[in-house]
Amino acid sequence: VGWRTFLEMLTYKAELYGRQFITVNPKNTTQTCHDCGFVMGTGGTKKLTLADREWTCPKCHVHHIRDHNAAQNILTKGIAKLA
Ligand SMILES: [Zn+2]
Repeated sequence: VGWRTFLEMLTYKAELYGRQFITVNPKNTTQTCHDCGFVMGTGGTKKLTLADREWTCPKCHVHHIRDHNAAQNILTKGIAKLA
């Protein structure tokens, strides 16, 4: 199915089970350090590519698993949207 249909299904299922389904702007969710907010590709750094599965923030030196870091940023954006 198309992406739009998929989102409609998630909305329906969420309502069915009394949960809330929202979407967030995915901009920079991968490139942003969840710990300090530094954005890769700024300040003379290179953007992460799809091949970069793990990386270390050049500002705060926290080591990240790419997808875990992005998931944390998405969760933070979602919570901020609900507030
Ligand atoms: Zn950082």
